[in-house]
Amino acid sequence: MSTHSDISFSKKRTWSHDLPISFLMQQGVENPGVLSLAAGLVDQGSLPVESTRQALESLLANPKMGLEALQYGTTAGSVALRTLLLSHISNLEQKPADELGITVDNIIATTGSQQYLSLVGEILLDPGDICLVAAPTYFVFLGVLQGLGARIVSVETDEFGMRMDSLESTLDMLESQGDLAKVKMIYVVSDYENPSGLSLSIDRRQQIVEIARKWSKSQRIFILEDLAYRELCYDGPVTPSIRSFDPSGDNVILTQTFSKSFSPGLRVGFGVAPLEVCAAIRDKKGNDDFGSTNLSQHILTRVLSDHLYYEHVATLRNVYREKRDCMLEAADEYFSDIPGVHWVHPNGGLYVWMTLPESIETGFQSPLFERAVHAEKVMYVPGELFYAVDQGLPLEEQLAPQKNHMRLTFGVQNPEGIREGMQRLSNAVKFLS
Ligand code: PMP
Repeated sequence: MSTHSDISFSKKRTWSHDLPISFLMQQGVENPGVLSLAAGLVDQGSLPVESTRQALESLLANPKMGLEALQYGTTAGSVALRTLLLSHISNLEQKPADELGITVDNIIATTGSQQYLSLVGEILLDPGDICLVAAPTYFVFLGVLQGLGARIVSVETDEFGMRMDSLESTLDMLESQGDLAKVKMIYVVSDYENPSGLSLSIDRRQQIVEIARKWSKSQRIFILEDLAYRELCYDGPVTPSIRSFDPSGDNVILTQTFSKSFSPGLRVGFGVAPLEVCAAIRDKKGNDDFGSTNLSQHILTRVLSDHLYYEHVATLRNVYREKRDCMLEAADEYFSDIPGVHWVHPNGGLYVWMTLPESIETGFQSPLFERAVHAEKVMYVPGELFYAVDQGLPLEEQLAPQKNHMRLTFGVQNPEGIREGMQRLSNAVKFLS
């Protein structure tokens, strides 16, 4: 019988059996009755069962399509889907595809956008290579970067997202240390960032392309633009992407998903990249899985071409707007009398980022987490998970992880659950204030 000690894992990679995501899920299982404002799940009641049923039925009723959908597909994904994705992107950007410099060949369908993010990491980063990220940012991608042995360097943010002056000074610092050639990418969640709910301003979308070009000296620096929440906008239209400011497409790799706007269970995401990057992604993906679930891609093709998708997104925006407002009203009601507590009002996405006084830490080992989960029966995601530690710099020279934030989501709970959860959480915070 083999044990872990028999296994010799790759020295290039770091492995952890205590991933924060696994810990959080375990907490949910071990503590029944806990109201989760942590789970990044989408609204259960709005999942598109009926549209998916219609799409599946009409697909299987057509023998040719049915057989095709149940056969292996191709590594890059169904051409019919990618053709629809091209017009989908062009609609979102309000620009013709040729002005954006995108063709079907630039698009690869993946198993969620998570797979696209991992593939890009795998093909661009060797151990020790540098990825610049906003502080805070999506912690599962931080895990991917750590797993690849990459160096993660954090850049300051403000209410308009990643600060461009801080990005330039960080690049400057890396150049003076002789490390510029190791900088391979800048990861940005442009819309309603997970966790902060903040978006990169339009000005900065343009500036970041200029900065990536300017600093691409001995090798190209890519911006990896993660648009997971792009279509979940509640107060205005979809924002033009960073990619739309780089019509040559040389410096921006974009990824998007149907997980938030339709169904995470279908596991369909996609990415847009220069052809040479697409070729490398296809090679890697070909070795991994020879293509994502063909049936899911066919369902989405139908849903997109029958416009069921667009109706669904319109409904979803109303559902989430109401739940966002409900969480913000509950925050006003239960938290506004606690000194030093403030929070972001997001225009989209699924998250409210709450800041507590510095004296109240929120981590898994903190008295607040203990009080929230065990006494008040409510769970949040500790903010410190969204900050990276740069192994290449002394701690005092980098942005230290902040320990007094909580990521709250209005995605999965109904309005009563949101209010109840916020009240319970405020009790826990008041107990420690
Ligand atoms: N990017 C961000 C910012 C996310 O929050 C998520 C999911 N929580 C993903 C990517 C990946 O989602 P999926 O693989 O379901 O497309």
